[in-house]
Amino acid sequence: MKYWIIHVPLLPVSGMAVFPFILLKHKNYQTDEVLINHERIHLRQQIEMLILPFYMAYLINYLINLLRYKNHYKSYVNIVFEREAFSMDKNLAYLRNRKFWSWIQFFRTHRGL
Ligand SMILES: [Zn+2]
Repeated sequence: MKYWIIHVPLLPVSGMAVFPFILLKHKNYQTDEVLINHERIHLRQQIEMLILPFYMAYLINYLINLLRYKNHYKSYVNIVFEREAFSMDKNLAYLRNRKFWSWIQFFRTHRGL
């Protein structure tokens, strides 16, 4: 899958996937294989959800989590798409064998602080 990396110094986070781009706060993050893999997992999630519904589901999941956890960070890391990405980003071969809509399996998992 082709993607383009864009350097965005004002980005409030290290990296962000906005199909078909990966935005990075610092240029040298390009060599961070785990970060790039994390963002590529998000690109895959976005494609298989036809892009726009991904962002809506991501936001709704975050808001539901915020009601549940009353904590930004915990709500963010427990968005189902983040659960998959954080759980699998260290496995650099993950996207090679990942099945369609694999993020669904991560509704059952939970990430602590
Ligand atoms: Zn993420």
